[in-house]
Amino acid sequence: MLNKKTVEDISVKGKKVLVRCDFNVPLKEGVITDENRLTAALPTINKLIDEGAKVILCSHLGKPKGEAKPELSLAPVAKRLNELLKKEVVFAADDTVVGENAKKAVESMQDGDVVLLENTRYRKEETKNGEAFSKELASLCDVFVNDAFGTAHRSHCSNVGVTQYVDTCAVGYLMEKEINFLGNAVNNPERPFVAILGGAKVSDKINVINNLLEKVDTLIIGGGMAYTFLKAKGDRIGKSLLEADKVDYAGDMIKKAEDKGVKLLLPIDNVVAREFKNDTPFKTVSHDGIDPDWQGLDIGAETQTLFADAVKDAKTVVWNGPMGVFEFENFANGTKAVAKALAATDATTIIGGGDSAAAVNQLGFGDKMSHISTGGGASLEFLEGKELPGVAAANNK
Ligand code: AMP
Repeated sequence: MLNKKTVEDISVKGKKVLVRCDFNVPLKEGVITDENRLTAALPTINKLIDEGAKVILCSHLGKPKGEAKPELSLAPVAKRLNELLKKEVVFAADDTVVGENAKKAVESMQDGDVVLLENTRYRKEETKNGEAFSKELASLCDVFVNDAFGTAHRSHCSNVGVTQYVDTCAVGYLMEKEINFLGNAVNNPERPFVAILGGAKVSDKINVINNLLEKVDTLIIGGGMAYTFLKAKGDRIGKSLLEADKVDYAGDMIKKAEDKGVKLLLPIDNVVAREFKNDTPFKTVSHDGIDPDWQGLDIGAETQTLFADAVKDAKTVVWNGPMGVFEFENFANGTKAVAKALAATDATTIIGGGDSAAAVNQLGFGDKMSHISTGGGASLEFLEGKELPGVAAANNK
């Protein structure tokens, strides 16, 4: 369990509380296309409003790289939060984030009021954890609450730097929930514990694989990264994605799994394509037989069954990364099958953000999962066994 102070442990009445949220939502022409991150932030915001705090919200959005890019303004988020909270959210439109508008807006706040600051990444110091901007943010508040799990693996001004200049620093409900779900899964899982990893690169997940092999009963590897493992086993993988410099590592991990008695499941058949696109000839072949001119873009039907069976009897499942190039309809079946298997199992199911979360939500299985993380990168670093700086910076209980 999390040993950090949460919003339950602090007194906020009449105080100015700066809340770092993760409002990094997808926008299309100024319209928010997925508001999961907004709704996930509401419990903490509502709690602080109800307690009579002056609630100052901040977040980054996209990568403006230190420039005030209008298309990455948080203005649309303020508008939508107004509706979701059923309460006025004053938007402090300031290119410098903590400028005259922000200061004025905060000065005139009453208990229970809500102000949203502009995109913290309008300031170039933000991602460098610079002292000046951290102090400016801290000058606005008496208490700091970090509820942005999606950036918890980064040390930035608005989630880590600011805590050096504020005495009371706690985490919000979302952060607490994320850490508890992932923490329980990794450190105290109900067994069998199955982890499913997919996506493009072995190199991105090296430490995750290594750490999970210490914890899980079964490790399933699909997606593009599986081919480096199949290569290490001596299979013919044709033109499939290969990280040649990671073949030895993959071999070591196969050996480690054997030594630890962990079941390592790799694809036993693949959907192979002529070219990397949707409209191209494709067929299913067994794993040892990808011809030189073909590339594996999805797991085959037998592999779908193999993976689904492993999930059926599990008590805890963590999933990160698609099983194939799910952006192409013809190669999305493996990812869909895994999402379906997770929706059907009685296990505690945890989706580690990013593409897998999008796949689960698109298929309408969102409410069938125990927990869908709001942070892909952060959940991966957590699964690596790393301490997240955004969490570490909060006061201990
Ligand atoms: P990651 O960011 O590492 O989780 O990778 C996600 C990406 O992996 C998605 O864009 C998928 O299209 C891609 N991917 C999954 N399977 C394959 C594959 N067999 N070949 C190439 N790319 C893949």
